[in-house]
Amino acid sequence: MNNKLKVVTLVVFFALLTWGVFLLAGYNQQAPNNDGDFTVAVSIFPLQDIVKNIAGESSQVVQVLPTGVSPHTYEPTIQDKSMLENADIVFYIGGGLDNWMIEGASEEARLVDLSKYVNIEEDHDQEDDDANHEHEEDPHYWLSMSIMEELSKIIADELGVANPQNIEVYEQNSVSYIEELKASREDLAAQLESLVNKKIITFHGGFDYFADDFGLEVAATIEEFPGKEPSPAYLSEVASVIEQNNLNAIFKEPQLSDSIITPLAQDYGIEVYTLDPLGGVEDRLTYIELMEYNVRTIITANTTQ
Ligand SMILES: [Zn+2]
Repeated sequence: MNNKLKVVTLVVFFALLTWGVFLLAGYNQQAPNNDGDFTVAVSIFPLQDIVKNIAGESSQVVQVLPTGVSPHTYEPTIQDKSMLENADIVFYIGGGLDNWMIEGASEEARLVDLSKYVNIEEDHDQEDDDANHEHEEDPHYWLSMSIMEELSKIIADELGVANPQNIEVYEQNSVSYIEELKASREDLAAQLESLVNKKIITFHGGFDYFADDFGLEVAATIEEFPGKEPSPAYLSEVASVIEQNNLNAIFKEPQLSDSIITPLAQDYGIEVYTLDPLGGVEDRLTYIELMEYNVRTIITANTTQ
């Protein structure tokens, strides 16, 4: 072997060695807490979609509340609770809506009550002097796109604390997702602006933040308390709101029984449409699609004579 060849061999040898060490170091950096093991648990579908957009496809996102079920009437099964066992971080709505999320989580899990970052409104559909007054807070803030734009940043920060190696990914994803939310909200607000009749009668008191965000007015709710049949006296108040405002539509919801609403609509000769606070079904397979669906439905209902 001549000298020139020796030098070339040595150079190649050290180059390979350096490359090998570099690969090993890189591998070691990613080995603990890699994406496939990082699990996020959420309660409702809208949170699942929002968290997926920010966490990216590589993280596992588990939704505890089954699609089609109302969080107001839901009782978690043992299997549902076991979905929370392996979660590194748990996001829930709070405000009394989904506190069952805490029950199944492990002690190491990071628990994030998102209501702590929101100015929770009083539930103004419930009378203060009512003996059945169950909760004063209105937890349905996820139906305000403005609020979810703000919370997307919080979600990215919390994911970054739980899984620091992906901080930059979460940050980048949240920036582009917030832009997407904002563009959609502005488009929907523009569509609603020209709507003459901005009054809606919702099935339960879930759409106040939504109405605030879009300049709509919830004139009444069919159910005084979610998941409970309203009293005849309460229903006659709702009926007088329908008459006084000359409304020609009321809204049911996929997750709650509609046995009350059909006779009421028949009595007053008005149409029944479906507003969906939760989604996760065809046509509403993302949070944005869910909001588009609800706005589309209100425009159709309130412009049809
Ligand atoms: Zn609700």
